[in-house]
Amino acid sequence: MTIKSDVESANAAYAESFGDKADLALPPARGFLILTCMDARLDPAKYAGLAEGDAHVVRNAGGRATDDAIRSMVISHKLLGTREWFVIHHTDCGMLFFDDGLMGDLLAGSLETAELTPEGFRNRSEPGGSTEGRFVKWHTIADQEASVLEDVTRIRHHPLVNPAIPIYGYVYDVKTGRMNEIAAATGAGRPRS
Ligand SMILES: [Zn+2]
Repeated sequence: MTIKSDVESANAAYAESFGDKADLALPPARGFLILTCMDARLDPAKYAGLAEGDAHVVRNAGGRATDDAIRSMVISHKLLGTREWFVIHHTDCGMLFFDDGLMGDLLAGSLETAELTPEGFRNRSEPGGSTEGRFVKWHTIADQEASVLEDVTRIRHHPLVNPAIPIYGYVYDVKTGRMNEIAAATGAGRPRS
């Protein structure tokens, strides 16, 4: 079995029992959105109790409030009616273990997967990569409580975000599965009208 055939057979089994999910409405039934990290250990459907059709989940590396994340969030509210937003970063995030300078260096040395050593990410070999990585802002994280506060604050002040939407900030603990609310972030995300 390959990765591709595994995924395709899992999907075939899922479709077999798809049932009345064919009748789900386009707007999320429970009216909220989660912005979180793509980390494979995080499953928002499980940790936040979602079924198909319930909520929007926007994911990227770090769960950062990038321009593209905010694009999705604005669509989510303006066109599809979500009314409360959760920004959920997490412990042991890969975004803690590098910065823009290191990522630029790693990609300049090689495009192959780096290894994570006790001293951080490093290339296994350096056949040459691309210096394009030096022109990208990677939105790395130095401290999760600070990053979730920063992102909630950015979303709160974005001119296209309805000030009536409450935005809550959390750090999910990968050792316990618990969402720990960051009071300063939720405070910064209070509705402004
Ligand atoms: Zn992460």
